[in-house]
Amino acid sequence: MKTIDLRSDTVTQPTEAMRVAMMAAPLGDDVFGDDPTVNALQNRIAAITGKAAALFMPSGTQSNLCGILAHCGRGDEYIVGQLAHTYRYEGGGAAVFGSVQPQPLTQDAQGRMALADIAAAIKPDDPHFARTRLLCLENTWNGHVMPDDYLREATALARQQGLATHLDGARVFNAAVASAAPGQGAHARVREIADHFDSLSVCFSKGLGAPVGSALCGSQELIQSARRIRKMAGGGLRQAGLLAACALHALDHHVDRLADDHANARRLAEGLSGIEGLTVKSAETNIVFVDVADSRGPALLDFLKANGVLATGLIGLRFVTHLDVDAAGIDHAIATVRRFFAETSAVPAGAARTGPY
Ligand SMILES: *Cc1c(COP(=O)(O)O)cnc(C)c1O
Repeated sequence: MKTIDLRSDTVTQPTEAMRVAMMAAPLGDDVFGDDPTVNALQNRIAAITGKAAALFMPSGTQSNLCGILAHCGRGDEYIVGQLAHTYRYEGGGAAVFGSVQPQPLTQDAQGRMALADIAAAIKPDDPHFARTRLLCLENTWNGHVMPDDYLREATALARQQGLATHLDGARVFNAAVASAAPGQGAHARVREIADHFDSLSVCFSKGLGAPVGSALCGSQELIQSARRIRKMAGGGLRQAGLLAACALHALDHHVDRLADDHANARRLAEGLSGIEGLTVKSAETNIVFVDVADSRGPALLDFLKANGVLATGLIGLRFVTHLDVDAAGIDHAIATVRRFFAETSAVPAGAARTGPY
């Protein structure tokens, strides 16, 4: 039985064509700036995002870290969502490695911090306060596309107050494909989103299906500074063109097909709706969040696993679609969830099993 792995869009295997591109890539030592494939990727993603320069990174975490540390110094502060990846899921790296203080703010269900909260969190120049330097947003956030109006208003507010702006765009290609105007290409739409920001980080290793890699995009000056920080962080790679070739292949072949992942996420959401005890919370791009009303969530995950379907349960049940899952796999996942709810009964509220019985 083939496993339907919906834990994340990071689980994809490189396609045969991607492996061929990898084997054919001309290589050099990228710490000397000599790797032609890395240089081609950096030029390509800089052009797509409309930034002067870009830097290939081993991971999105390192890309965000180098971005934040290039914008902020010791004793500076960045404003970020309470549930944003850079704040919550990156080990506190900006504080640990950069002595940069995060100022987390509450987000709404779409991931937006209120503009009034952002304005109130920007500190005056006073020795009591950290220096507020940077606003960091995320798009998509938990699969939600940030509306353009919000991106415009939040970044304009930051700029008026002298702050720089950074986008954690790990899934910005998903945002672009989901929100492009009719006839508008995904690359043009990425550019539109990126235009609001001084810098952005994009992942090639998520929906785009490359095995490894992200890029930080920004001004020449910012990227020069980030290159120094990346080296300190141990991220200076040598014949990294092997990996960059996969990312280039992904940009050529795996962007428009993100629409298939979004369609599969909708198919899953529709298939799961109407099951008693289950609430489908959202499915705007390639991530479907599901709430299980009673305490059957962990048992459902186990049942799915026993039947060849993997999902995660960190913040509610999460299913992520990607290029290694097709509609038949989605239908199997739906049928398995339905079977679970047909075969088990709700545990009464307050009677959840917490200890050995
Ligand atoms: C995955 C992810 C990252 C980090 O990427 P890694 O390559 O896993 O380090 C950053 N931000 C968001 C929103 C992500 O989903």
